[in-house]
Amino acid sequence: MKSVVIVGASLAGLSAARALRAQGFGGHLTIVGAETHRPYDRPPLSKEFLAGQMTTADLALEADGEDLDAEWRLGVAATALEQGEPLRITLADGSVVEADGVVIATGAIARTLGTGIGDSLAGVHTVRTIEDASALRADLDAARRLVVIGAGFIGAEVACVARTLGLDVTIVEAAPTPFARALGPEMGAALAGLHEDHGVRLICGAAVRALTGDGRVDGVLLEDERRLDADVVLVAIGARPAVDWLDGSGVRLGDGVVCDSDGATSVPGVVAVGDCAAWFDPALGVHLRVEHWTGAARRPATAARTLLSGGAAVPDGLAPPYLWSDQYGMRVQFAGHTLPGDEVSVEEGDLASRRFLAVYRREGRTVAVLGIDQPRSFTRWRRRVNEPAGAR
Ligand code: FAD
Repeated sequence: MKSVVIVGASLAGLSAARALRAQGFGGHLTIVGAETHRPYDRPPLSKEFLAGQMTTADLALEADGEDLDAEWRLGVAATALEQGEPLRITLADGSVVEADGVVIATGAIARTLGTGIGDSLAGVHTVRTIEDASALRADLDAARRLVVIGAGFIGAEVACVARTLGLDVTIVEAAPTPFARALGPEMGAALAGLHEDHGVRLICGAAVRALTGDGRVDGVLLEDERRLDADVVLVAIGARPAVDWLDGSGVRLGDGVVCDSDGATSVPGVVAVGDCAAWFDPALGVHLRVEHWTGAARRPATAARTLLSGGAAVPDGLAPPYLWSDQYGMRVQFAGHTLPGDEVSVEEGDLASRRFLAVYRREGRTVAVLGIDQPRSFTRWRRRVNEPAGAR
């Protein structure tokens, strides 16, 4: 292979570039990125960066002096991929980049409430980029009341920073239990308790009808007619894969780019990695899009091997998804994947103290582990995820 284009210049794209070079790829490497920034780290955007404890320079993902001998095309999005030999990528400025191999690493885009609900009012935010986090921080500094829509990890982390800044914080969640999508209802409720301990009001089972205000948001109207006053609203209802640019390319799309368990897509010479990619997970028997830092950092090594070997490399075993989150000085860690009906039990610590280690089991097999402020025992338990039942 003589040339590769990586589309998406963030964690997964940079990790793919590093992996290609580490695996001996000596050809022409082009990295295309819609943002003007060099690759930067997103997890601090809802944590230390938002809290003012990190600067933009601290977010840099590249090491000092790191040189991948790549041509960087930043500030210009890819708009189309055309099959053939070579593959052709069209950019928003009308230029075309040709290559023998393509890595799709375009990540995800924060979901919004939709037009007509009030998304465009000043004071309404999402957090995905440096600019988003800076704008949110500036608004929080001038605000008294924050309403977070969506009880997921990003919403929870912003709630936590806002509490430390002294704001009055309410989280509104459509599901009956917060954090249930990732943690299941029981452990979701346990994590919610941590927020209530810190004075966050949680309203669950409540859908948002509209955001109100004249130019600037002043409240959130719920479907049950309740009205919450707000100076700032964070919409944290998840992210959708940034794959619209692949429409008509022949790359199979579902919830993101549909990939084998080695990152291969339906188009020869094209692999996909990171938040935009739904790799086949043999342990679950489904394609699963994983939006976690560790997957975006590690899976590109497998995808690079797939690309350079023309698909002949034997895929590595897929590590179970892993995420962490920092809330009120506690590290929340979760590995694996839970489904409705899994049994969950607290194995160490206790729910009341908010410091515990919980294990999820399906037919006797450990399928996921949650640790709150238990980093050492979490590391130990994490190794058991997806081991055959009765292995220990
Ligand atoms: P992204 O980081 O989304 O990057 C994709 C890049 O591609 C972007 O720069 C985008 O502009 C660019 N792009 C999109 N379309 C195009 C196009 N057509 N052409 C060219 N470029 C394009 N994970 C954890 O495990 N723990 C955490 O605590 C955690 N906290 C997070 C907090 C926040 C606020 C956010 C937003 C994410 C957090 N994550 C966390 C998730 C983690 O940051 C992501 O999994 C990771 O950034 C994914 O990397 P990626 O390169 O796949 O995608």
